[in-house]
Amino acid sequence: MVKKGNKVRYELNPTGIKSVPDNEIKTILRGADDLIMSGGRAMLAKILAGSKDKKLLELGLDYSPVYGALKGNSQKEILAKIDWLILHHYLAIKYDGRLPMLVYTDKGWNIERETYADELLEKLIDAAENKRYEFVETLKDRNRSLILLLLEKIANSGNKDLITILNAWQTIEFKKLRTKIQEVIDLLEKVEEKPKREENQELVSFSANKKWLSIPVEFRRQLERNVWCSYCCDVVKIEKYTVKEFSGGIVLEGKCQKCGNDVARVID
Ligand SMILES: [Zn+2]
Repeated sequence: MVKKGNKVRYELNPTGIKSVPDNEIKTILRGADDLIMSGGRAMLAKILAGSKDKKLLELGLDYSPVYGALKGNSQKEILAKIDWLILHHYLAIKYDGRLPMLVYTDKGWNIERETYADELLEKLIDAAENKRYEFVETLKDRNRSLILLLLEKIANSGNKDLITILNAWQTIEFKKLRTKIQEVIDLLEKVEEKPKREENQELVSFSANKKWLSIPVEFRRQLERNVWCSYCCDVVKIEKYTVKEFSGGIVLEGKCQKCGNDVARVID
């Protein structure tokens, strides 16, 4: 496969791109995952643009979750953004014979690993709900640091409904990973049953809500508009709030309408 001859040259050209927003960095890195040491910048731009390129379709790259995700941009703009990512060391180029291929840098892989682990966790939850336990086969022979991060996320989710699918996963893995999976199962088994906690919360918030609703509506609206936001350093309106019991009175916990940060208003 490695042919001698002139290397195919490329030139990075991030013209017009001053910075790329975080969500687009994630999207571009997600797209690169299917091309590591097998494809280059131009193919990545085509995936993100949702191109009907023959080779792209042959390779099944239209199944990428970010296929067409940057449709609003021209392919030239997308390529400029990819080049910006290369110049800022999220991606790098390595030659396979004559051809320049994409690879992750450590910085880029750390971001992509997060994105991918979140995606796998969602798929795992969905598979557990629908009893499609064979999903665990797709987790075999994956990058180890990705799988360890996934296990960490499963443990943090506290989701007991995942125990059965974790048991299924264990049966197809080697000893080292089996032990890791068992650790997560043990952790999940210790998690307090959910319904109990929710019931409690509902009871508490029922009584708090009763108190809140006993305040005349006009006064309630006034209180909502009179909340201090320490981020805005200003009196703002609270939104998306919940009412909770608080040392004899109640407290509204919600978001600042201006900046979206957490705010609270105690009502005696
Ligand atoms: Zn604010």
